[in-house]
Amino acid sequence: MGYEITHWIDGQEVAGSGATQPIMDPATGAQVGTLHLGDAGTVDRAVQVAAAAQKEWAKVSLARRTQILYRMRQLMIEHTDEIAAVITREHGKTLADAAGEIARGLETLEFATSITQDLKGGFSQNISTGVDGHTLRQPLGVVAGITPFNFPVMVPFWMHPIAIATGNAFVLKPSERDPSASNLVARLYQEAGLPDGVFQVVHGGKEVVDALCTHDGVAAVSFVGSTPIAKHVHSVASASGKRVQALGGANNHAVVMPDANIEFAAAQIASGAFGSAGERCMAVPVAVTVGDVHEEFLAAIRAEAEKLIVGPGNDPATDMPPVITPDAKARVIRMTDEAEAAGGTIVVDGRGLVVEGHENGNFVGPTVITGLAADHPTYTDEVFGPLLVVMHVNNFDEAVELVNSSPFGNGTAIFTDSGHYARRYQDEIQVGMIGINVPIPTPVGYYSFGGWKDSLFGEHHAHGPEGVSFYTRQKAVTTRWPAQNESVESSMSFPTHD
Ligand code: NAD
Repeated sequence: MGYEITHWIDGQEVAGSGATQPIMDPATGAQVGTLHLGDAGTVDRAVQVAAAAQKEWAKVSLARRTQILYRMRQLMIEHTDEIAAVITREHGKTLADAAGEIARGLETLEFATSITQDLKGGFSQNISTGVDGHTLRQPLGVVAGITPFNFPVMVPFWMHPIAIATGNAFVLKPSERDPSASNLVARLYQEAGLPDGVFQVVHGGKEVVDALCTHDGVAAVSFVGSTPIAKHVHSVASASGKRVQALGGANNHAVVMPDANIEFAAAQIASGAFGSAGERCMAVPVAVTVGDVHEEFLAAIRAEAEKLIVGPGNDPATDMPPVITPDAKARVIRMTDEAEAAGGTIVVDGRGLVVEGHENGNFVGPTVITGLAADHPTYTDEVFGPLLVVMHVNNFDEAVELVNSSPFGNGTAIFTDSGHYARRYQDEIQVGMIGINVPIPTPVGYYSFGGWKDSLFGEHHAHGPEGVSFYTRQKAVTTRWPAQNESVESSMSFPTHD
């Protein structure tokens, strides 16, 4: 039904195991396409092709690799509208938001065009008399990326430009909910001149993921998704001897200090809580009011939430799109019901919202809840929808304690006029990415992205300098060139550096 999406292996479309899955439009609830699912055999085929392609790709000069990346950047820019439309159709987010994720993804590609700098090793002359030392970084081989539905272009771009620039071949397993953009990216890489087999796409679910995590030909796995699957991927791939970075879920808090500009904070937090219907790993599902600003903040956030236009992502008037699936909608409604049953105050109620002409879409309105206990699941669990819980504490220290008690540590923000508290916050908070009067502090492509605690398993953050070290291994070379007639005394003792 509708269009068909197959795997992209060795530079062409390839059918899968025979099993298929419908691709749905979240705004209408209608099937728009059919995805061909892969299995362990599909993974094996892609990895074999990748291994052969990688051997040749690793020999290609840095200058040539960089030229291909520049061409790819240009093609992505020229095709932004087309790719954004595909993202909106399958994910639901607004067209502007989809174009924004393409631009943010390109930051990593732009960073990767400087790989000539980042692959420079060190050199030391005369580390011992007549002996020099130098380091070089080499690719791992075939590396895999497993990515979530919420950023079908940006998150894979955190991975593949650096993996490819450093000489690896990359096998992408995108989310099965919005798979089409990955095939478009594969075609553009081919048009940019990337040899077939260096970037491939295998579609599917658990079977494909597990096959990638255990395949002998895969050297490393980058994963982004929910915490339970991140833990699973980290343990299975690590047990198979692979290098792994597995970024997990989040429950990001924004602290509102008494000295903050409340209107500014409310507008920023509304954008963090309700932008892309809250389906961002750096969304802000929790606001923490400190001291006497609680009521003022509630009034301001209610005003922000109530003015949002909820509708399909392809309508330019839409502020907030649908969520990804009927299950995701049901989860937001259930978490609101449970909060209400526990005595929480529903400040803004998103349940029951119907978008005219889109009655079967996965729409739920912006929701604001306060008055919950600190152990209520609507506060502690990741909702991944447009639901903001407003917690209240008496002072800065209690705010830090509340944020640090979360098992997640992806992002956080503080809204304040005080440099003193801002500085203390960034020092004392156990979270990987911090915004000071910035609600979604997603690092730019030339820094690295990663949370702490249950938001990341593995040693490396994504993209930027940590991406280069993740996708390469270092060698240290020690060199001596004695003259042909030079006599050197041999010694059985451990060499010293004279
Ligand atoms: P998900 O964990 O359900 O899926 C992620 C990937 O894992 C997909 O490719 C999926 O096919 C695969 N997968 C799903 N179930 C699996 C299983 N049982 N075994 C093996 N593989 C499986 O996540 P999602 O719903 O696509 O995305 C939303 C989640 O991703 C949220 O928790 C969000 O916080 C998180 N996320 C985190 C970051 C980050 O940088 N930390 C970024 C984006 C999204």
